Amino acid sequence: MHRLGSSLVNWYLVADDGRLTAVDAGLPGFKNTLEADLARLGHSTADIEALILTHSDGDHTGLARALHEAGARVLIHSGDEPSLRKPGLKPGDASPPHLLRELWRPGLWRLFAAMAISGGAMPKPFEGAETFSDGDLLDVPGAPRVIATPGHTVGHCAFHFERHGALVVGDALCTKNPITGSRGPQVMPSFLNVSTEQCVASLALLEDVAADVMLAGHGEPWRGQPAAAIAAARAR
Ligand SMILES: [Zn+2]
Repeated sequence: MHRLGSSLVNWYLVADDGRLTAVDAGLPGFKNTLEADLARLGHSTADIEALILTHSDGDHTGLARALHEAGARVLIHSGDEPSLRKPGLKPGDASPPHLLRELWRPGLWRLFAAMAISGGAMPKPFEGAETFSDGDLLDVPGAPRVIATPGHTVGHCAFHFERHGALVVGDALCTKNPITGSRGPQVMPSFLNVSTEQCVASLALLEDVAADVMLAGHGEPWRGQPAAAIAAARAR
């Protein structure tokens, strides 16, 4: 498993017998270094057979078009396919009135600035994604199992790569708060979630997954069983 991206946003490559699955696709600006980043790992975009998305937010879908054009299938949970096809403002806890109350936070402006520079603030529509459901075993390199973890978005999912001993959780929880920079396992800031209450409830769905490493959309890898990370997130 390879971690790519920036200090703010991660995306991952899973190698399986020389075939690759990308999990999430970062910010659009990552395209500038995409081929060089892959070449460093001994790969090119042509090796990426599939891109599986934890959710449709603009900081996780940036390279979708580029990877699709290079031949990758693009897969997402049916609950987030509409917002991938037609990006817009998030509802619920992340709706504009809630977001406006948070604008005093310098960290929010840092995130907005980083996203704007990298083109993630205004995600482009993506058509042509295949959809999956909770519990599916995906027929892509690494053969991950889908664990639907709604809350950050309606169709948010985690992926369990059993043979790799890895659980990719997307934004079901992060290990570094992208707004405050505070470290440690935690659910995403409330005003970025459709339902923070549902985010907390979804943690239970990841608790019994056996993995040696947990990989999030934001922050460092968590080494150890997911249950310990989830206990830490709940305690916060
Ligand atoms: Zn994110």
